[in-house]
Amino acid sequence: MTTITPTLAATEQPLHFHATRKAAAPSVDARQQAWPVAEVQALLDLPLPELMHRAQTVHREHHDATEMELATLLSIKTGGCPEDCGYCPQSVHHETGVPATKMMTPEEVREAVLGAKAAGASRFCMGAAWRAPNDRDLEKVEELVRVIKDEGLEACCTLGMLSGDQAQRLKGAGLDYYNHNLDTAPELYGDIITTRDYQDRLDTLGHVREAGIHVCSGGIVGMGESRAGRAGLIAQLANLAPYPESVPINHLVKVPGTPLADELDLDPLEFVRTVAVARITMPTAKVRLSAGRRQMDESTQVLCFLAGANSIFYGDKLLVTGNPDVEADRALLQRVGLKTRHTFNA
Ligand code: SF4
Repeated sequence: MTTITPTLAATEQPLHFHATRKAAAPSVDARQQAWPVAEVQALLDLPLPELMHRAQTVHREHHDATEMELATLLSIKTGGCPEDCGYCPQSVHHETGVPATKMMTPEEVREAVLGAKAAGASRFCMGAAWRAPNDRDLEKVEELVRVIKDEGLEACCTLGMLSGDQAQRLKGAGLDYYNHNLDTAPELYGDIITTRDYQDRLDTLGHVREAGIHVCSGGIVGMGESRAGRAGLIAQLANLAPYPESVPINHLVKVPGTPLADELDLDPLEFVRTVAVARITMPTAKVRLSAGRRQMDESTQVLCFLAGANSIFYGDKLLVTGNPDVEADRALLQRVGLKTRHTFNA
């Protein structure tokens, strides 16, 4: 048992993790821990009109409040993941019927990149269901990153844990962004995932930062946590130094066969509050509505936009004419009066 202290000021309690190796260069800087959990919780506890006003004020100071980023992710290797994340249908530990696929070829990815480019994308993100890439996987991903860069787009990946050397290799191939979520607050983490620990995640984020790659990191709400749990997650993210450029706030999708399939529904206003507090505590970040948006009613989504969400996950692959989800999204954004920018990025 090792005591890890980087998050001490954030939680005001020492945190004990089953970490057996030395952490990477700290991804949480004690000098810049601006957001103790109690302060984040105080924001979450504000009357909603007050919280929304504060979130909108911060949002308008740093962003065009009428602009929405559209982000898309291509799964280059789906299913068969050895991790046991309790929310994930791609884990081999859960009976969800998601088949494991092989990694896409450079030709297939190039075709997808060209399609994304034609649709106006400026960045292309690839996801793979791995605990961590092995050396052979990484070589292939490096090649895929070069395909994206050849076509003049920014490249983003989400591949699981990375070592420092792997992050450097991806940077060398031209990778611009890396997504790796903290998922939840440290004290709740063991209830959701047992096959890797919180410090593994902080280490990966540290390696990504050290390699000079932009960080995309967020979490999932609605997994049975209390408001204090949501405060713990947001404080962790906000106290990363610097905080992530991109913060996906996911709502649990209850997939039959996963351990969280029967979780109680979260009050939608709690989700809105979480988005607002992410906006206030990470002012310049893109705050992204990701998983779970499809299950949300449109009014809740609009409240999230007003709370400072300025990026949405859009479609599940390339833009396809006639895709009803994409059409519904376009109609909603038009009704709200938001102009869009498509990044094809997770
Ligand atoms: S590591 Fe990723 S793909 Fe694997 S089970 Fe967890 S969330 Fe799913």
